[in-house]
Amino acid sequence: MTGAAPIEIRSASEPSPCPRCGKDGILSALVSHGWTNASGGDVRGWVTVVLCADCDADAPHSAPLITWFHVNGIIDADNSGEFVKLLHSWAEHVRVPDLDEAALEREIDAWRRGEL
Ligand SMILES: [Zn+2]
Repeated sequence: MTGAAPIEIRSASEPSPCPRCGKDGILSALVSHGWTNASGGDVRGWVTVVLCADCDADAPHSAPLITWFHVNGIIDADNSGEFVKLLHSWAEHVRVPDLDEAALEREIDAWRRGEL
């Protein structure tokens, strides 16, 4: 994939919760992303992207990996080749959602009110 953002796959005994639905994710990845700020500076960082069995079930590059986890459960010597292939396909198409400035402002307001 040309111009792909760096990505780092994470595995843990406790999966990260899905930020969209709150259920346990299957796996997560740290994805490099960034933007140009108001002064023209390049702002870079990492964001966690979670593979979720519910939210990503219909995504073309996520669904086969989700199915693989439902069928196999764990990675072993016999199924690791297929897993790596599906993982690469998912990782190549992971997309960091655009910043929702309205949602950010709502969270800042909630934080200022002491609700977060
Ligand atoms: Zn979800």
